[in-house]
Amino acid sequence: MSAKTTQFSTELRGQYNAMAYAADGAKSPLAPTLIPRRDPGENDVQIEILFCGICHTDLHIVRNEWSAVRTVYPCVPGHEIVGRVTKVGSGVTKFKPGDLAAVGCLVDSDGNCHECQTGFEQFCPHMTLTYNSPDVHLGGITYGGYSDSIVVKEHFVLRVPSNLNLAGAAPLLCAGITTYSPMRHWDVTQSKKIGVVGLGGLGHMAVKFGHAFGAHVVVFTTSPNKKEDALRLGADEVVISRNTDEMNKHVNSFDFILDAVSAEHDINSYLRLLHQDGNLTLVGKPEKPFAVAAVNLTFNRRSLSGSNIGGIAETQEMLDFCGKNNITADVEVIPIQRVNEAYDRLSKADVKYRFSIDMASLKS
Ligand code: NAP
Ligand code: ZN
Repeated sequence: MSAKTTQFSTELRGQYNAMAYAADGAKSPLAPTLIPRRDPGENDVQIEILFCGICHTDLHIVRNEWSAVRTVYPCVPGHEIVGRVTKVGSGVTKFKPGDLAAVGCLVDSDGNCHECQTGFEQFCPHMTLTYNSPDVHLGGITYGGYSDSIVVKEHFVLRVPSNLNLAGAAPLLCAGITTYSPMRHWDVTQSKKIGVVGLGGLGHMAVKFGHAFGAHVVVFTTSPNKKEDALRLGADEVVISRNTDEMNKHVNSFDFILDAVSAEHDINSYLRLLHQDGNLTLVGKPEKPFAVAAVNLTFNRRSLSGSNIGGIAETQEMLDFCGKNNITADVEVIPIQRVNEAYDRLSKADVKYRFSIDMASLKS
Protein backbone atom coordinates (compact mmCIF):
# COMPACT_ATOMS: atom_id res chain seq x y z
CA MET A 1 0.00 0.00 0.00
CA SER A 2 2.61 2.53 1.06
CA ALA A 3 4.97 1.36 -1.72
CA LYS A 4 2.20 2.06 -4.25
CA THR A 5 1.52 5.52 -2.84
CA THR A 6 5.21 6.28 -2.91
CA GLN A 7 5.54 5.11 -6.49
CA PHE A 8 2.61 7.29 -7.52
CA SER A 9 3.91 10.45 -5.89
CA THR A 10 7.39 9.80 -7.27
CA GLU A 11 5.98 9.88 -10.78
CA LEU A 12 4.11 13.11 -10.11
CA ARG A 13 6.97 14.92 -8.46
CA GLY A 14 10.05 16.17 -10.28
CA GLN A 15 13.41 15.83 -8.60
CA TYR A 16 17.00 16.99 -8.86
CA ASN A 17 20.34 15.74 -7.60
CA ALA A 18 21.96 17.32 -4.56
CA MET A 19 25.52 16.84 -3.34
CA ALA A 20 25.80 15.14 0.04
CA TYR A 21 27.93 13.00 2.35
CA ALA A 22 26.53 9.58 3.19
CA ALA A 23 27.51 6.47 5.13
CA ASP A 24 26.92 3.15 3.36
CA GLY A 25 26.98 1.06 6.53
CA ALA A 26 27.52 1.16 10.29
CA LYS A 27 31.27 0.77 9.87
CA SER A 28 31.70 2.84 6.70
CA PRO A 29 33.10 6.35 6.73
CA LEU A 30 30.96 9.14 5.38
CA ALA A 31 31.81 9.83 1.72
CA PRO A 32 30.61 12.11 -1.10
CA THR A 33 27.54 11.10 -3.04
CA LEU A 34 24.57 12.45 -4.97
CA ILE A 35 21.06 12.20 -3.55
CA PRO A 36 17.63 12.99 -4.99
CA ARG A 37 15.69 15.99 -3.65
CA ARG A 38 12.14 16.80 -4.72
CA ASP A 39 11.46 19.93 -6.73
CA PRO A 40 9.74 22.37 -4.39
CA GLY A 41 5.96 21.93 -4.37
CA GLU A 42 3.31 24.52 -3.58
CA ASN A 43 4.05 24.69 0.15
CA ASP A 44 7.76 23.91 0.04
CA VAL A 45 10.85 25.97 0.69
CA GLN A 46 14.13 25.10 -1.03
CA ILE A 47 17.19 26.02 1.02
CA GLU A 48 20.87 26.24 0.10
CA ILE A 49 22.53 24.80 3.21
CA LEU A 50 25.32 27.00 4.57
CA PHE A 51 26.10 25.25 7.89
CA CYS A 52 25.08 21.99 9.49
CA GLY A 53 25.94 21.03 13.07
CA ILE A 54 27.09 17.53 14.02
CA CYS A 55 24.87 16.10 16.77
CA HIS A 56 25.85 12.98 18.73
CA THR A 57 22.57 11.53 17.44
CA ASP A 58 24.13 11.61 13.95
CA LEU A 59 26.86 9.36 15.29
CA HIS A 60 24.38 7.01 17.07
CA ILE A 61 22.36 6.70 13.85
CA VAL A 62 25.25 6.39 11.39
CA ARG A 63 26.77 3.65 13.53
CA ASN A 64 23.36 2.01 14.06
CA GLU A 65 23.77 2.11 17.85
CA TRP A 66 20.06 2.27 18.80
CA SER A 67 18.15 -1.02 18.67
CA ALA A 68 14.83 0.89 18.64
CA VAL A 69 15.76 2.82 15.46
CA ARG A 70 17.26 0.84 12.62
CA THR A 71 19.39 2.84 10.24
CA VAL A 72 18.64 2.62 6.53
CA TYR A 73 21.72 3.05 4.31
CA PRO A 74 22.93 5.07 2.56
CA CYS A 75 22.40 7.46 5.46
CA VAL A 76 22.83 11.23 5.08
CA PRO A 77 22.68 12.64 8.62
CA GLY A 78 22.31 16.23 9.79
CA HIS A 79 19.44 18.01 11.55
CA GLU A 80 21.04 21.29 12.59
CA ILE A 81 20.59 23.17 9.34
CA VAL A 82 20.99 26.86 8.56
CA GLY A 83 20.93 28.30 5.06
CA ARG A 84 19.44 30.67 2.55
CA VAL A 85 16.16 30.26 0.70
CA THR A 86 16.65 29.70 -3.04
CA LYS A 87 13.09 28.96 -4.17
CA VAL A 88 9.59 28.84 -2.71
CA GLY A 89 6.30 27.28 -3.84
CA SER A 90 3.33 29.46 -4.79
CA GLY A 91 1.57 28.81 -1.47
CA VAL A 92 4.52 29.86 0.73
CA THR A 93 3.88 33.09 2.65
CA LYS A 94 6.61 33.37 5.31
CA PHE A 95 9.75 33.01 3.17
CA LYS A 96 11.13 34.42 -0.07
CA PRO A 97 14.36 33.72 -1.97
CA GLY A 98 17.34 35.26 -0.17
CA ASP A 99 15.91 34.88 3.37
CA LEU A 100 17.86 33.07 6.06
CA ALA A 101 16.13 29.87 7.09
CA ALA A 102 16.72 26.90 9.36
CA VAL A 103 15.56 23.31 9.70
CA GLY A 104 15.83 21.09 12.76
CA CYS A 105 14.96 17.46 13.44
CA LEU A 106 11.46 17.48 11.91
CA VAL A 107 10.35 18.00 8.31
CA ASP A 108 6.72 16.85 8.53
CA SER A 109 3.92 15.59 10.77
CA ASP A 110 0.24 14.79 10.23
CA GLY A 111 -0.91 18.23 11.42
CA ASN A 112 -4.22 16.78 12.68
CA CYS A 113 -3.49 14.93 15.88
CA HIS A 114 -3.75 16.38 19.37
CA GLU A 115 0.04 16.75 19.56
CA CYS A 116 0.30 18.70 16.30
CA GLN A 117 -2.69 20.87 17.17
CA THR A 118 -1.12 21.81 20.50
CA GLY A 119 2.37 22.57 19.17
CA PHE A 120 4.02 19.27 20.04
CA GLU A 121 4.88 18.03 16.55
CA GLN A 122 7.84 16.21 18.11
CA PHE A 123 5.37 13.74 19.66
CA CYS A 124 3.18 13.27 16.57
CA PRO A 125 2.88 9.54 15.87
CA HIS A 126 3.28 10.31 12.16
CA MET A 127 6.13 12.80 12.26
CA THR A 128 8.85 12.66 9.62
CA LEU A 129 12.38 13.15 10.89
CA THR A 130 14.84 15.11 8.79
CA TYR A 131 16.79 11.95 8.03
CA ASN A 132 16.27 8.19 8.25
CA SER A 133 12.45 8.50 8.09
CA PRO A 134 10.26 7.21 5.24
CA ASP A 135 10.07 9.85 2.50
CA VAL A 136 6.47 10.10 1.24
CA HIS A 137 7.47 12.31 -1.68
CA LEU A 138 10.29 10.39 -3.33
CA GLY A 139 10.12 6.99 -1.67
CA GLY A 140 13.05 5.57 0.28
CA ILE A 141 14.10 7.58 3.31
CA THR A 142 14.68 11.23 4.08
CA TYR A 143 18.19 12.65 3.74
CA GLY A 144 19.55 15.21 6.18
CA GLY A 145 21.67 18.30 6.18
CA TYR A 146 25.14 17.07 5.22
CA SER A 147 24.18 18.29 1.78
CA ASP A 148 24.20 21.41 -0.36
CA SER A 149 20.41 21.84 -0.33
CA ILE A 150 17.15 20.62 1.15
CA VAL A 151 13.45 21.03 0.36
CA VAL A 152 11.10 21.29 3.34
CA LYS A 153 7.44 22.07 3.95
CA GLU A 154 7.09 25.71 5.07
CA HIS A 155 5.61 24.87 8.49
CA PHE A 156 8.88 23.14 9.44
CA VAL A 157 11.17 25.95 8.30
CA LEU A 158 12.34 28.38 11.00
CA ARG A 159 13.39 32.01 10.84
CA VAL A 160 16.96 32.82 11.92
CA PRO A 161 17.60 36.13 13.73
CA SER A 162 19.91 38.13 11.47
CA ASN A 163 22.34 39.11 14.25
CA LEU A 164 23.40 35.52 14.95
CA ASN A 165 26.62 33.98 13.64
CA LEU A 166 25.34 31.32 11.25
CA ALA A 167 27.90 28.60 12.05
CA GLY A 168 27.03 28.96 15.74
CA ALA A 169 23.30 29.23 15.09
CA ALA A 170 23.03 25.86 13.30
CA PRO A 171 23.39 23.77 16.53
CA LEU A 172 20.47 25.68 18.07
CA LEU A 173 18.19 23.63 15.83
CA CYS A 174 18.79 20.50 17.90
CA ALA A 175 21.17 21.08 20.82
CA GLY A 176 19.47 24.43 21.47
CA ILE A 177 15.83 23.37 21.45
CA THR A 178 16.50 20.03 23.17
CA THR A 179 17.85 21.84 26.22
CA TYR A 180 15.68 24.99 26.09
CA SER A 181 12.40 23.04 26.00
CA PRO A 182 12.77 20.97 29.22
CA MET A 183 14.35 23.91 31.04
CA ARG A 184 11.27 26.01 30.23
CA HIS A 185 8.92 23.13 31.07
CA TRP A 186 10.53 22.59 34.49
CA ASP A 187 10.54 26.32 35.17
CA VAL A 188 14.25 27.00 35.33
CA THR A 189 14.31 30.59 36.55
CA GLN A 190 16.17 32.90 38.87
CA SER A 191 16.92 31.47 42.33
CA LYS A 192 16.71 27.86 41.07
CA LYS A 193 19.74 25.60 41.52
CA ILE A 194 20.18 23.48 38.43
CA GLY A 195 22.66 20.84 37.31
CA VAL A 196 23.89 20.02 33.81
CA VAL A 197 25.44 16.59 33.36
CA GLY A 198 27.90 16.24 30.47
CA LEU A 199 29.52 19.28 28.89
CA GLY A 200 29.07 18.40 25.23
CA GLY A 201 26.96 19.96 22.49
CA LEU A 202 23.69 19.78 24.41
CA GLY A 203 25.27 20.36 27.82
CA HIS A 204 27.04 23.56 26.86
CA MET A 205 23.80 24.99 25.46
CA ALA A 206 22.03 24.08 28.72
CA VAL A 207 24.70 26.03 30.62
CA LYS A 208 24.15 29.07 28.40
CA PHE A 209 20.36 28.91 28.79
CA GLY A 210 20.53 28.26 32.54
CA HIS A 211 22.77 31.28 32.94
CA ALA A 212 20.48 33.42 30.73
CA PHE A 213 17.44 32.34 32.78
CA GLY A 214 19.23 33.52 35.94
CA ALA A 215 19.59 30.11 37.59
CA HIS A 216 22.56 28.94 39.68
CA VAL A 217 24.20 26.48 37.28
CA VAL A 218 26.38 23.55 38.38
CA VAL A 219 28.13 21.53 35.68
CA PHE A 220 28.93 17.86 36.25
CA THR A 221 31.71 16.67 34.01
CA THR A 222 34.00 13.68 33.70
CA SER A 223 36.59 15.90 31.99
CA PRO A 224 38.63 18.02 34.43
CA ASN A 225 40.08 19.94 31.47
CA LYS A 226 36.62 21.41 30.72
CA LYS A 227 36.36 23.19 34.09
CA GLU A 228 37.51 26.61 32.90
CA ASP A 229 35.34 26.47 29.79
CA ALA A 230 32.31 25.58 31.92
CA LEU A 231 32.83 28.69 34.04
CA ARG A 232 33.37 30.82 30.94
CA LEU A 233 30.16 29.45 29.39
CA GLY A 234 28.16 30.59 32.42
CA ALA A 235 28.43 27.88 35.10
CA ASP A 236 28.60 29.03 38.73
CA GLU A 237 30.23 25.79 39.92
CA VAL A 238 31.86 22.77 38.32
CA VAL A 239 31.89 19.30 39.86
CA ILE A 240 34.15 16.52 38.64
CA SER A 241 31.55 13.77 38.75
CA ARG A 242 34.04 10.95 39.41
CA ASN A 243 34.99 12.64 42.71
CA THR A 244 32.58 11.25 45.35
CA ASP A 245 33.46 13.86 47.97
CA GLU A 246 32.64 16.67 45.56
CA MET A 247 29.35 14.98 44.62
CA ASN A 248 28.35 14.46 48.28
CA LYS A 249 28.53 18.18 48.96
CA HIS A 250 25.44 18.65 46.76
CA VAL A 251 23.12 15.92 48.15
CA ASN A 252 19.43 17.01 48.41
CA SER A 253 20.09 20.47 47.01
CA PHE A 254 18.96 20.70 43.35
CA ASP A 255 15.65 21.85 41.86
CA PHE A 256 16.41 20.40 38.47
CA ILE A 257 19.12 18.42 36.71
CA LEU A 258 19.42 17.96 32.95
CA ASP A 259 21.33 14.84 31.94
CA ALA A 260 22.86 15.19 28.46
CA VAL A 261 25.28 12.26 28.53
CA SER A 262 25.56 10.10 25.43
CA ALA A 263 27.04 6.99 27.09
CA GLU A 264 26.24 4.55 29.89
CA HIS A 265 26.54 6.11 33.39
CA ASP A 266 24.95 5.90 36.86
CA ILE A 267 21.98 8.25 37.23
CA ASN A 268 21.44 7.31 40.91
CA SER A 269 24.37 9.50 41.84
CA TYR A 270 22.45 12.47 40.35
CA LEU A 271 18.96 11.56 41.64
CA ARG A 272 20.40 11.73 45.17
CA LEU A 273 21.27 15.36 44.59
CA LEU A 274 17.63 16.51 44.08
CA HIS A 275 15.75 18.10 46.95
CA GLN A 276 12.00 17.67 47.59
CA ASP A 277 10.03 17.43 44.33
CA GLY A 278 13.20 17.96 42.32
CA ASN A 279 13.33 16.59 38.80
CA LEU A 280 15.98 14.93 36.69
CA THR A 281 15.28 15.07 32.97
CA LEU A 282 17.12 12.83 30.55
CA VAL A 283 17.85 14.18 27.11
CA GLY A 284 20.92 12.04 26.46
CA LYS A 285 20.05 8.69 24.90
CA PRO A 286 22.59 5.97 25.66
CA GLU A 287 21.47 2.63 24.22
CA LYS A 288 21.73 0.62 27.46
CA PRO A 289 18.75 0.90 29.90
CA PHE A 290 19.38 2.69 33.21
CA ALA A 291 19.16 0.99 36.62
CA VAL A 292 17.27 3.18 39.10
CA ALA A 293 17.14 2.50 42.85
CA ALA A 294 13.52 3.12 43.94
CA VAL A 295 14.64 4.83 47.13
CA ASN A 296 16.32 7.54 45.07
CA LEU A 297 12.89 8.49 43.74
CA THR A 298 10.69 7.82 46.79
CA PHE A 299 12.85 9.90 49.10
CA ASN A 300 12.12 13.60 48.52
CA ARG A 301 9.33 12.62 46.09
CA ARG A 302 11.80 13.08 43.25
CA SER A 303 10.86 12.56 39.64
CA LEU A 304 12.70 11.25 36.63
CA SER A 305 11.57 12.21 33.15
CA GLY A 306 12.72 12.67 29.58
CA SER A 307 12.36 15.21 26.82
CA ASN A 308 12.57 15.05 23.07
CA ILE A 309 13.65 18.10 21.00
CA GLY A 310 10.72 20.61 20.90
CA GLY A 311 7.77 21.68 18.76
CA ILE A 312 8.03 24.12 15.88
CA ALA A 313 6.56 27.13 17.72
CA GLU A 314 8.85 26.57 20.69
CA THR A 315 11.86 26.17 18.39
CA GLN A 316 11.06 29.57 16.89
CA GLU A 317 10.63 31.00 20.41
CA MET A 318 14.07 29.61 21.32
CA LEU A 319 15.68 31.09 18.19
CA ASP A 320 14.12 34.48 18.93
CA PHE A 321 15.32 34.24 22.55
CA CYS A 322 18.83 33.50 21.24
CA GLY A 323 18.59 36.47 18.87
CA LYS A 324 17.62 38.81 21.72
CA ASN A 325 20.31 37.48 24.04
CA ASN A 326 22.94 36.86 21.36
CA ILE A 327 23.26 33.17 22.22
CA THR A 328 24.88 30.71 19.81
CA ALA A 329 26.78 27.48 20.21
CA ASP A 330 30.56 27.51 20.63
CA VAL A 331 31.61 25.80 17.42
CA GLU A 332 34.61 24.33 15.70
CA VAL A 333 33.89 25.03 12.04
CA ILE A 334 35.14 22.25 9.77
CA PRO A 335 35.05 21.44 6.06
CA ILE A 336 32.94 18.38 5.30
CA GLN A 337 36.07 16.47 4.28
CA ARG A 338 36.93 16.32 8.02
CA VAL A 339 33.60 14.85 9.09
CA ASN A 340 34.98 11.36 9.88
CA GLU A 341 37.71 12.84 12.06
CA ALA A 342 35.01 14.88 13.83
CA TYR A 343 33.00 11.69 14.50
CA ASP A 344 36.06 10.03 16.05
CA ARG A 345 36.59 13.01 18.31
CA LEU A 346 32.89 13.16 19.24
CA SER A 347 33.00 9.53 20.35
CA LYS A 348 35.82 10.50 22.74
CA ALA A 349 33.94 13.55 24.19
CA ASP A 350 36.60 15.72 22.51
CA VAL A 351 34.70 18.65 21.02
CA LYS A 352 34.49 22.31 22.00
CA TYR A 353 31.52 22.25 21.96
CA ARG A 354 29.89 21.50 18.63
CA PHE A 355 31.26 20.80 15.18
CA SER A 356 29.60 22.94 12.53
CA ILE A 357 30.20 21.94 8.92
CA ASP A 358 30.84 24.79 6.49
CA MET A 359 28.85 23.44 3.56
CA ALA A 360 30.68 25.61 1.01
CA SER A 361 33.41 22.95 1.35
CA LEU A 362 31.14 20.42 -0.34
CA LYS A 363 31.68 22.21 -3.64
CA SER A 364 35.47 22.29 -3.37
P1 NAP B 1 28.30 15.16 22.91
O1 NAP B 1 28.58 16.50 22.35
O2 NAP B 1 29.13 14.01 22.48
O3 NAP B 1 28.31 15.30 24.51
C1 NAP B 1 28.10 14.21 25.36
C2 NAP B 1 28.86 14.46 26.66
O4 NAP B 1 28.57 13.37 27.54
C3 NAP B 1 30.36 14.44 26.52
O5 NAP B 1 30.91 15.66 26.11
C4 NAP B 1 30.80 14.09 27.93
O6 NAP B 1 30.80 15.25 28.76
C5 NAP B 1 29.69 13.18 28.41
N1 NAP B 1 30.10 11.77 28.32
C6 NAP B 1 30.48 11.09 27.22
N2 NAP B 1 30.81 9.82 27.52
C7 NAP B 1 30.59 9.70 28.86
C8 NAP B 1 30.70 8.61 29.78
N3 NAP B 1 31.13 7.40 29.38
N4 NAP B 1 30.39 8.84 31.08
C9 NAP B 1 29.98 10.06 31.49
N5 NAP B 1 29.87 11.11 30.68
C10 NAP B 1 30.17 10.93 29.38
O7 NAP B 1 26.78 14.73 22.59
P2 NAP B 1 25.48 15.64 22.33
O8 NAP B 1 25.37 15.92 20.88
O9 NAP B 1 25.44 16.71 23.32
O10 NAP B 1 24.33 14.56 22.63
C11 NAP B 1 24.22 13.98 23.92
C12 NAP B 1 23.15 12.91 23.91
O11 NAP B 1 21.88 13.52 23.71
C13 NAP B 1 23.28 11.87 22.80
O12 NAP B 1 22.93 10.60 23.34
C14 NAP B 1 22.27 12.30 21.78
O13 NAP B 1 21.79 11.26 20.97
C15 NAP B 1 21.18 12.83 22.68
N6 NAP B 1 20.24 13.75 22.04
C16 NAP B 1 18.95 13.69 22.46
C17 NAP B 1 18.02 14.56 21.95
C18 NAP B 1 16.63 14.54 22.45
O14 NAP B 1 15.74 15.09 21.79
N7 NAP B 1 16.38 13.96 23.61
C19 NAP B 1 18.42 15.51 21.00
C20 NAP B 1 19.76 15.56 20.61
C21 NAP B 1 20.66 14.68 21.14
P3 NAP B 1 31.94 15.48 29.87
O15 NAP B 1 33.25 15.42 29.13
O16 NAP B 1 31.61 16.83 30.39
O17 NAP B 1 31.79 14.42 30.91
ZN1 ZN C 1 20.44 16.27 17.42
